[in-house]
This record gives sequence, structure tokens and C-alpha cells, in this order.
Amino acid sequence: MDSVYEVRTSSSTETRTLASKLAVLLKGGEVIELTSDLGGGKTTFTQGMAAALGYDGEVTSPTFTLSNIYRLTSGLEIHHYDLYRLNEGGVVGDELSEDMGDPVIITVIEWAGAVSANLPADKLRVEIERVGDDHRLIRFLPGGPESARIVEELKQANEK
Ligand code: ADP
Ligand code: MG
Repeated sequence: MDSVYEVRTSSSTETRTLASKLAVLLKGGEVIELTSDLGGGKTTFTQGMAAALGYDGEVTSPTFTLSNIYRLTSGLEIHHYDLYRLNEGGVVGDELSEDMGDPVIITVIEWAGAVSANLPADKLRVEIERVGDDHRLIRFLPGGPESARIVEELKQANEK
């Protein structure tokens, strides 16, 4: 797809800044799938998103609780999933499906493998590749027209 956008970051701060530029483009109802190896920067990216939307609490991987909810002053909510320990979608997949139909929820998922069948086609996949201790190659891969529009706006915001 020609709307793929690729950015290199050389610190966690740069990754958070990039994530913040994405977050401010979201209106609610979006699904962001984050992929990387362990320690790649998925949670760091989520921290940047939450901070940009005014969340001042802690943002950590919900490895054991499977999901965290960050309520924003705007009325939007970020539902942050980490499904590393989940083998099959089950009730979590059902919960996720409900979230994804809600226009005030921005769904952010780390390790979405077990629920990939529940995800909408028009999600935004963000692949983070470790290319050095502090260097990451971050690719934004839209799955449909709405996420492609977001990636296009991100490209413009990040390159001016
Ligand atoms: P994940 O959630 O993918 O397991 P984390 O975000 O928890 O990963 O951890 C990423 C680690 O890599 C953090 O310790 C972060 O400070 C570090 N790091 C170093 N450089 C970067 C970068 N460019 N982008 C994101 N994280 C980075
Ligand atoms: Mg994590």
C-alpha cells in the first residue's frame, strides 16, 4: 500500500513525540495495533499517545490485567490492551469487540495475535523495529480508508 509511512526515532522521547502527533489526530473509535519484539517500544508509544491527550497518570503494560483504561478530560477513553499472555480471544475478544464499536474509545493493543480475527480491517497497524539500542524504525500501515487518512495527516504534521 502506498500510504505506508516510515519514521526513524533515536530515543524514547522521539518515539513519544511521534506518538503524540498521531494521538491528536484521533477522534475516538480508532483501533491502533502495536507490534514489536519485547522491549521494542509499544508501551513507550502508548505513553506518548496518552500524555498528548492530557492523561497524567501512569501508563504501563497491562500484562497481568490485560487492559488499562485511561479516561481523558475530553470524554474520550484510551483502552490499552496487552495480550501477550492470552492464548485465545474468548471473553477478552468479546470485550474488545464492544470497545471497538464505541466512538469514544481509542483502542490500543499490544500483542494482538490472539484477537486478530476480532480486529476491524480499517485499523492502524504500527510496527516498531529495533534497529539499534536507542534507534527504532516505526512503520504506520493503514488497513483501510479512515486509517489511511490519519497516516496522511500524520505525515504532513510530522514533516512540517
Ligand atoms: P514494549 O512495550 O514493546 O515491550 P517498552 O515501551 O516497554 O516496550 O520498552 C521500550 C524500551 O526501549 C524502554 O526502556 C525505552 O526507554 C527503550 N527505548 C530506547 N530507545 C527507544 C526508542 N527510540 N523508542 C522507544 N523506546 C526506546
Ligand atoms: Mg509493553
